[in-house]
Amino acid sequence: MIPILDSKRQYATIANEVEKAVCDVMRSGCYILGPNTKALEKELAEFFGVNYTVGLNSGTDALHLALRALDIGPGDEVITTAFTFVATTEAIGIVGAKPVFVDINPDTFNIDPDKIEAAITPRTKAIIPVHLYGQPCEMDKIMDIAKRHNLRVIEDCCQAIGAKYNGKMVGSFGDFGCLSFYPTKNLGGMGDGGLIMTNSESLRDRVVALRNHGGAVRYYHDEIGVNSRLDEIQAAILRVKLPHVKDWNEQRRAHAAYYNKLFADAKDVITPVEAPNTYCVYHQYTVKVPNRDVVHKMLQENGVGAMLYYPVPLHLQKVHAYLNVGKGSLPYTEKDTELVISLPMFPEITEEEQRTVASTLISCIEKSKTAAAV
Ligand SMILES: *Cc1c(COP(=O)(O)O)cnc(C)c1O
Repeated sequence: MIPILDSKRQYATIANEVEKAVCDVMRSGCYILGPNTKALEKELAEFFGVNYTVGLNSGTDALHLALRALDIGPGDEVITTAFTFVATTEAIGIVGAKPVFVDINPDTFNIDPDKIEAAITPRTKAIIPVHLYGQPCEMDKIMDIAKRHNLRVIEDCCQAIGAKYNGKMVGSFGDFGCLSFYPTKNLGGMGDGGLIMTNSESLRDRVVALRNHGGAVRYYHDEIGVNSRLDEIQAAILRVKLPHVKDWNEQRRAHAAYYNKLFADAKDVITPVEAPNTYCVYHQYTVKVPNRDVVHKMLQENGVGAMLYYPVPLHLQKVHAYLNVGKGSLPYTEKDTELVISLPMFPEITEEEQRTVASTLISCIEKSKTAAAV
C-alpha cells in the first residue's frame, strides 16, 4: 500500500531529536505555557514575518478565538468557502455568527474573489479565505475588498504553512492567520495543536486572555474564555520540526512537479494549477478525474491510498441545512466536489512510488470507463 501520508517515515528522520526534546520536557516538570511554547511563538513569528503568534489547542480554536477577538458573534455574517474542512464554518457557528458561502475558482479550488462583493450585506463583518491544499488565495484582491468594505480578514492557513502570495507568507495579510498542528499537516505535532498570528498587539493580548479563561492576570477574569493552550510537549516537538519545514515544502513541490510530468499526456487527469505569483506548498496533490468514486475504490483495491477532500461541500451538510443554501447554489464547488481526488503526497515519497501511483491511476480511469459503459 502506498499511503496518502506516511508519518512514520518522517519520524524516523528526526526520532533522536524529538525523543530528547520530549524527555527534557517531562523532566522539567513544566508542562503548560512554559519555555517551549514561548520559544515556538517567537520562532514562528520570525518564520512568518509577523509581530506576534499565540499557541493554542487546535486550528479550530485558532479560527474560533480569532473571531471572538474581533467581537464577531450573533447577527454577524462571515463570508467563506464551502469547499473546505468543516472546522472553518464550525468556528463561525461556535461564536453564533452565520457563514455566507461564495463559490470557488475551479482552477485553484479557492474562494473566487470576483464573487465576494455580491455576497456582502450590512451584516457582513469578515472574510475567511482558506488556502486549500496549500494553494494561496488571491490575497491582493481579498484585502482590497476588505479595505473598501471595512471588513476583517481571518486567513485559514491550516493547510498552507509556508505558502506565499507575491513573496509574502499567507497568514500575514489579514487581521489573523490561523494554523493547525494536527499530525497530518505540513508542520504536524504528535497530538492536537494550533496557533494564531497577527501584527496587532491588542488582538494578540485578547487571544492570550481568551485561551486562558478570559483573563490576562491569573485568577482575574474579564470575560468568558476557554482552555485552549498549546502544551509544552507539542511545542517542543514542533520546535524540532520547524527548521525542516522549508525543505519539506520544497520536496512536496518537487513531487508535485514530477506528478505533473507523469500526467502530462493523460488527458483524463486534470492536474493542479498554480496561480501566478504564488508559492504553493502542496498539503495535498489533488487532481480531477472522471468516474471519480469508481476510480477511488479501484485505487484503494490496487494499493494506492487516495482520499476525497471533501466528499460533501459544506453548504449541503446537515449542519448547515438551516441556511437553506440548496443544491445548485455553488456550481463550481458542487461540480469539483464530485471530481477531486487527492493522491499520496508527503516529503519522503519516492519517485518509484509516484510512478506506481500515476500508472495505477491512469489504468483505473481506463477500466472505470468500461465499468461505466456496462
Ligand atoms: C485541519 C484544518 C482545520 C482545523 O484544524 P484542527 O487543528 O484539526 O482543529 C481548519 N481548517 C482547515 C482548512 C483544515 O485543514
